[in-house]
Amino acid sequence: MLKHLVAVTLLVAAVVPVSRMQQPARSADLVLLDGRVVTVDERFSIATAVAVRDGRFVAVGSNADARAHIGSTTRVIDGRGRTVIPGIIDTHVHALDVAAAEAAQPFRNLRSIGELQDWLRSETQRQTPERWIWTPRVFPTRLRERRFPSRQELDRAAPRHPVVVDSAYAFSLNSAALRAAGITRDSADPPGGAIVKDAAGEPTGLLRNAGGLLARFRPAGSERVPLETLEQVHRQYLATGITSVIERGASLDGYRTYEALKRADRLHLRASVTIRVPPADDPAGVERFIGSLPMRFGDGDHWLKAGPLKIVADGGILIGTSFMREPYGLGARQLYAVDDPRYRGFLTLTTAQIASTLAIGHRLGWQMVAHVTGDAGVDVVLDAIEAAQRGSPGDRRHTLIHAYFANPATAARAARLGVLVDTQPAWHYKDADALSDALGRNRVAHFIGLDTWRRAGVEVAINTDHMFGLDRNDAMNPFNPFLTIYAATTRRTESGRVVNAAEAVSRQDALRMMTRAAARFSFDEKNRGSIEAGKLGDFVVLDDHILTCSAERLRTLRADITVIGGLVAHERR
Ligand SMILES: [Zn+2]
Repeated sequence: MLKHLVAVTLLVAAVVPVSRMQQPARSADLVLLDGRVVTVDERFSIATAVAVRDGRFVAVGSNADARAHIGSTTRVIDGRGRTVIPGIIDTHVHALDVAAAEAAQPFRNLRSIGELQDWLRSETQRQTPERWIWTPRVFPTRLRERRFPSRQELDRAAPRHPVVVDSAYAFSLNSAALRAAGITRDSADPPGGAIVKDAAGEPTGLLRNAGGLLARFRPAGSERVPLETLEQVHRQYLATGITSVIERGASLDGYRTYEALKRADRLHLRASVTIRVPPADDPAGVERFIGSLPMRFGDGDHWLKAGPLKIVADGGILIGTSFMREPYGLGARQLYAVDDPRYRGFLTLTTAQIASTLAIGHRLGWQMVAHVTGDAGVDVVLDAIEAAQRGSPGDRRHTLIHAYFANPATAARAARLGVLVDTQPAWHYKDADALSDALGRNRVAHFIGLDTWRRAGVEVAINTDHMFGLDRNDAMNPFNPFLTIYAATTRRTESGRVVNAAEAVSRQDALRMMTRAAARFSFDEKNRGSIEAGKLGDFVVLDDHILTCSAERLRTLRADITVIGGLVAHERR
């Protein structure tokens, strides 16, 4: 019997073309030897070498294990004792928005009101006075003065041009912009938003959650995303070790842009595209929108996947519009220009809209994700998810995005409902100084409280929420994944103070939250997130040891080599 088999094997070998005979038929495309391979498998085991064939790991173990796969065409990387980690998964980026904004005007990080005024003055030289000037994104927590610019300050820099300072869910206008938009002392607040007025009843220029009033003044064409710019953004990610992303809020057009990028053979990392559900007046409108989408949740392949769907439930904590259980308090007066002691922020949708949209998405088979920053907002979203899942729970992985104010009861409830949390430690690094002063240390003690979620058993992904700019550390927000890991493990802010070390997590846990756990957010845990035989061959060779280097070294770690599917996608020179 054995003889017979050997004979058949020889016969098959004899008909293989000569060119194939020159290499072992099963040789790997890529082998890495002599590494310190942090696999992030179930046991967090460490290996020495890996081999990748046809896009997937075929060996993870000793040098001998991997060497057995080397053939004449195998590329062999000398690990030189360097640390190797799974490809980083950033579950929250806005690469489409970055690309659209970069194509229109490269991002400038404005760090003070003085810098903002200088920027405005130079813009007024370039533009005719009818043209609206929109600034780069500016958050008061990141301005040296730690407040919104006043209307008068904007008027001094731009007396004639309408100016909008863009703080995402808040906008600061100069007098010309208020006039051009027809916003006066008699204007009523739009639903879910506010036109802030001074003691005399005059608009101060600050609009909270009222972007709709300005939509028609936005520069045309800023939605257009050139493929080469999107590709350029992705190359920046690859250079930091990011091999997979979730776009966290695209239109259907944005999804189409990704399809076009892939067709053009220019999609070099793996992407899932979250699609925003536009607010609708009634549930029928939501049902029509979701029902009309030309794809179902999870359609696609290992390079591009559709979904989930996203709603925006409240505002942001950098601008004081998160919907909070407790009033912001007058300590927040300077940072957010709040003077009502009862002010608790906003929901941007009604509780009924949140409930019906999540229920419809759930029923139609979509994973649903909700931007929700404040603790009271989280209560509303969890109520909605609990109601939507009643009778049909399943493994749906509906997700809270941001959920900045962690507490044990909410965490236990999220765990029970199978709800995931997608959050951004680099905001703690950038913003916890300003927030501690405004909101008090007690409230900020659990800001991005990773350990509270972890202890309750909630799946957490840490990520960057990259919105603007191409510099990993100077972008809004920084997309250096090792800054995220630094912030998650040290709770250190940019000024160097530690805000509640008890919420820090271990380096192993932080790495898990950017790899193995992050893969679960797009239902990709069987294919990504760890270095294991059978999984996609995505990994990163680092320039220092992530588990043992000094804490300060963590945030300057660099990717020497980034590999996707066994192909080198980035090599540092
Ligand atoms: Zn975002």
